[in-house]
Amino acid sequence: MPPITILEDRKKQIIKKGYDSAEISCEKKSLAGSISQRACVFCGSRVVLYPVADALHLVHGPIGCASYTWDIRGALSSGPELHRMSFSTDLSETDIIYGGEKKLEAALLELIRDYSPNAAFVYSTCIVGIIGDDVEAVCKRVAQKTNIPVLPVHSEGFKGTKKDGYKAACDALFQLIELDRKHKPRADIKPIPLTINILGEFNIGGETWMIKAYYKQMGIRVLSVMTGDGRVKEIQSAHRASLNVVQCSGSLTHLARQMEAEYGIPHMRVSYFGIEDTADALYDVASFFMDTPEIMKKTKRLVEKEIKGILPELAQLKAELTGKRAAIYVGGAFKAFSLIKALRHLGVDVVLVGSQTGNPDDYRRLKKMCDPGTVILDDANPLELAKYVMEKDAHLFIGGVKERPIAYKLGIGFCDHNHERKIPLTGFEGMLNFAREVNETVNSPVWDLVPSRNRPEKGLKGKV
Ligand code: SF4
Repeated sequence: MPPITILEDRKKQIIKKGYDSAEISCEKKSLAGSISQRACVFCGSRVVLYPVADALHLVHGPIGCASYTWDIRGALSSGPELHRMSFSTDLSETDIIYGGEKKLEAALLELIRDYSPNAAFVYSTCIVGIIGDDVEAVCKRVAQKTNIPVLPVHSEGFKGTKKDGYKAACDALFQLIELDRKHKPRADIKPIPLTINILGEFNIGGETWMIKAYYKQMGIRVLSVMTGDGRVKEIQSAHRASLNVVQCSGSLTHLARQMEAEYGIPHMRVSYFGIEDTADALYDVASFFMDTPEIMKKTKRLVEKEIKGILPELAQLKAELTGKRAAIYVGGAFKAFSLIKALRHLGVDVVLVGSQTGNPDDYRRLKKMCDPGTVILDDANPLELAKYVMEKDAHLFIGGVKERPIAYKLGIGFCDHNHERKIPLTGFEGMLNFAREVNETVNSPVWDLVPSRNRPEKGLKGKV
């Protein structure tokens, strides 16, 4: 592989701890020509709303936008599975010239008739923003005709970054909650004691059920989850919770802030990944309900029992993994914080870390957490990731679907921490699953057989 030159306009978005004193540049639109790993605005909103399982999800745009995000999260549902369909208005040249509103209205009426969803989300894509269809007006008309909430998601792909897509999804969820809340004066909304909403949890491998089980053992009722195993009615009741607990802070903090401003529901950021962060999350929530001391007692018992159950095997796995090096590239930086802590627990050094949507505070915290020499990247492209993974001689890459081929082409292990996995990595049990997976991939004998760019003494020499 020939040496890679970093594009001039990208240089400020890459720093090496201990070598670069300047702050990393972030929260910028992706550089044209850089082939960012980031998804578009539409994809950002689609991944947040996707797990609402009893809603219709209609992508207003060309068929490619729908196929790109078809079953994108694979999120599990304990009931309906309408979310797994990727309906599209399949806009073509004629619609683009004459407008797609009639087609959209007809598609919505047909789908609502055939599938009887409890709500519908209509996603605007790039071309809809260009031709100027009035999606909002169509949604209003269809909502009146069908008597279900029909919500426009203003997610035209070109209008910003994936983060703007998260915001568009939050706005749609807020509208959904408001439809229920509007019937009552705000003063009449009494929070239900000892209840929470879980925000930013998507039930990819059954995590929502694991977290709910923890809260049940603590004596706390989960009123709604946004959006893992999500249901329209539960989301509409979210304004009655006592607390919003936000996991994927990049995606749902905007909604938590809206709910705090409108309904006075406080929110806290947590992570359920790794032993430390899961324990902290549960203790923080228990502390919020200090007026009911029984909750803290139950939480302590739960945490002690869970940790005791996994520590012996974790110690064995640590012995296998100590000294290995990992690269991390994830969507939100909050996940990266937890991953660094969890990998340290396993004796693994993090040599590269980056995110698609981190903000200046996130990167300051990342820099503080990392060891000297760690490469930190914002909104990276595949060539940059490959360059630094090789330079830092990582044994493992942790990322999502777009990072997997980079890892395999370089002949190193990969661990999916995004949409494609089927094993839950959340909570105490999830930490054990994660440690097992890291060990299986890093210490797999397959790496002795495949071409490895950094270790040519191994594998098929000369074939790289
Ligand atoms: S919305 Fe635009 S950028 Fe996103 S998938 Fe569709 S065409 Fe591509």
